[in-house]
Amino acid sequence: MLFADIIGQEGTKKKLIQSVTDSRVSHAQLMLGPPGSGKLALALAYAQFVNCTNRSAHDSCGSCPSCVKMARLSHPDLHFVFPSTTNKKVKKDPESNLFLEEWRSFVLQENAYVGLNQWYNFLGVENKQGTIFTRDANELIRKLNFKAYEAEYKVAIIWMAEKINVQAANKMLKVLEEPPDKTLFLLIAEEQEQMLSTVKSRTLMVKIPRISDKAIGNALIQRFQCREAEARDATLMANGNWLEAVRMYENNEEEKFNFQTFQQWMRLCFRGSILELTDFSATIAGIGRERQKSLLAYGLNVFRNGLLVNSRLNELLRLPDDEKEFNTKFAPFVHTNNILDLVGLMEEGITHIERNAHAGILFMDSSLKMIKLLKIKP
Ligand SMILES: [Zn+2]
Repeated sequence: MLFADIIGQEGTKKKLIQSVTDSRVSHAQLMLGPPGSGKLALALAYAQFVNCTNRSAHDSCGSCPSCVKMARLSHPDLHFVFPSTTNKKVKKDPESNLFLEEWRSFVLQENAYVGLNQWYNFLGVENKQGTIFTRDANELIRKLNFKAYEAEYKVAIIWMAEKINVQAANKMLKVLEEPPDKTLFLLIAEEQEQMLSTVKSRTLMVKIPRISDKAIGNALIQRFQCREAEARDATLMANGNWLEAVRMYENNEEEKFNFQTFQQWMRLCFRGSILELTDFSATIAGIGRERQKSLLAYGLNVFRNGLLVNSRLNELLRLPDDEKEFNTKFAPFVHTNNILDLVGLMEEGITHIERNAHAGILFMDSSLKMIKLLKIKP
């Protein structure tokens, strides 16, 4: 990870870089900041920077052997500890060491912008909570007692340090206080109150703020090649949390897809074109069950909105202009003589998809019923 790949956080980057330039790298640092602020990404960029053999004043070189291994998270002097629990693969005595392969793919895939719930989902641990165990502490201490293989600093990244249990913390206290030579501990945490005070008191706290809206907006535009207005909408709701900004943006994408697709579906139903509806149903069969359900749920909203418009309650429609226009134009076709059947059609569709119905047949069948329902007079 290069500092250049970090979203925003200019002030924090500067401080971290300065500590290296001034040769006053604290051996145990606690990076504390809210979810989605890029703590792990910063820690990885820092670890890479201190060990780069050809760094500039502002960043790692990205191409020396150390940088290459750091970027792949496979450097022999880069160690990770993180919360783990049992899952399908590890049925008892979980510890970080047993999940290293998963951890590397997870972090690389998300470009180091990761959250605890995402990690649990990735491991498939359902509702279990992870812990950093004594086994983790023992294994880390064992690894750190070796001489550095090739790096200037051995780096131990302890992700979500609030999950260290008391026994593991007691094991680690001594090594945090008097670490082996040239060892850098980077602890990452979100909840200061949940951290054991014994661990906290042995570290230098580096507060990581939320990411600025501007930096999040620019990063969204770069990553999704989206328009400025789209990035702005997602940024407004995200409150400096990159993970949340991505989620908001993607939800918005789904909303737009539903709008366009539903509008097209209704157009074909009005036209009563069986051939085109067959094509349409075949396409929808390929979008996946969650999206099919989401599309039908969108239809339910359109019908409900129709009733609002008919009752002259247009101001209750909280929609972008183009969607509002569509909902308003569609409203005359929704009335007391067909609303229950229209709603029933969407709801049944959702239930059938949940029970693995063939989506192509289901959408074709619903289209035929829809043609009839739209013809009913108010
Ligand atoms: Zn380098």
